[in-house]
Amino acid sequence: MRLVGRNDLMLLAGLTVALFVIFVEPVARLIEYAREIEQARGLQLLPGLVILTGVYIFYQLRKRHEIRALALAAEADAHQARAREGETARLVEFGRALALTRSQDEDSIRSAVTEHLPRLAPGRSGWVMLRMDGIWQPLVTLGEVRLADLERAARRAVLGEVGVVEAGAAADACFPMIAGGAPLGVLGVASQPPLTEHQHGILMTASALLGAAVKNAQLFKEIHENSVRDALTGCSNRKHALEVIDVELRRAWRSQQPLSLIMFDLDHFKRINDEYGHLCGDAVLSAVGQRMTAVLRGSDLKCRYGGEEFLILLPDTPLAGAQRVAETLRRELEENPVRWNADVIGVTASFGIATASAGEVEVSPLIGRADAALYLAKQEGRNCVRVAEVRAAIA
Ligand code: GH3
Ligand code: MG
Ligand code: MG
Repeated sequence: MRLVGRNDLMLLAGLTVALFVIFVEPVARLIEYAREIEQARGLQLLPGLVILTGVYIFYQLRKRHEIRALALAAEADAHQARAREGETARLVEFGRALALTRSQDEDSIRSAVTEHLPRLAPGRSGWVMLRMDGIWQPLVTLGEVRLADLERAARRAVLGEVGVVEAGAAADACFPMIAGGAPLGVLGVASQPPLTEHQHGILMTASALLGAAVKNAQLFKEIHENSVRDALTGCSNRKHALEVIDVELRRAWRSQQPLSLIMFDLDHFKRINDEYGHLCGDAVLSAVGQRMTAVLRGSDLKCRYGGEEFLILLPDTPLAGAQRVAETLRRELEENPVRWNADVIGVTASFGIATASAGEVEVSPLIGRADAALYLAKQEGRNCVRVAEVRAAIA
């Protein structure tokens, strides 16, 4: 910052000339008078005055230099403060984006990170690795990175090597995400150019925010799983199954694909409870759940409809396919008795099948037909498969 400009200098010069013209006479007389005093009293007034003037000019120049340096430093501080303000604002935006994600959805966390990480660490490559059930998986990778390198860097970072960790050819600054004392993941960014202390703090806070969001999503998923699943058999509960069947019936109607339901009930299950106790009955139910998992496809839905009554939804499956599945499961149960202490307990079940007619979108009549077919199977001797009468097609 210049304290005296070109115009000021011209003004000063003009003033000096004017003052000189105005005061040249009195000044000459003053100097003469000073000389007389010098001679009369033996003093050195004029040299003293010259020295004082020189010192004053030197002092003024130094002061001007100092003020200029201070102004420059203040400008740099203001620039840095503006940069920090921007970084903090971007961190707040990131926090807000994470808060707005639908917590059950990992995809929305991924897109928030993909959008905001380049703003939090501009011009740097970056990544986020998550540890789920002991396995490291990438959530986001930005820039050229190798998964194996990231996994190694993430493993080392959560071992306590906070700071810069080698990641292949490059070195990345790693920020572990810890939730409930356990490492949940790591946020990494390229360590060059070196991060300022403020940027370091920003990324550390970002990783903490991200850790909280990821943990929240995992807990949400877990609670949702527990709320729709029966712990004993691993099947969906009835309410969830009815919702899924409703959705699948409409999908089948739109895509003109077949859809079948199997309903089955364990034969004389009360006797097992009465003879061996309820714990044994529970073990049998759990074994039935395992057999269903072994026989069915991943896309099929298995449901515990009641105590020892089960429902299976087979999307994209016509009657003949459903019959094959029911027969396979019936045989599996019959051929694999359950061991309970020293006893071997035979388990059989009766099956009813119903297939959705073209244009059928109501859940209850379809389940009603499967139930009626199951009732027929019970009546006709149990341990067998029966098919419901096909409902007239709806135009
Ligand atoms: P059916 O061949 O006619 O189906 O005879 P059933 O004995 O299987 O039929 P019933 O409906 O008379 O008995 C079902 C029994 O299932 C009665 C109930 O105590 C038992 N049960 C229901 N839920 C559970 C459970 O969660 N655990 C155990 N151990 N038993 C259960
Ligand atoms: Mg039964
Ligand atoms: Mg029953």
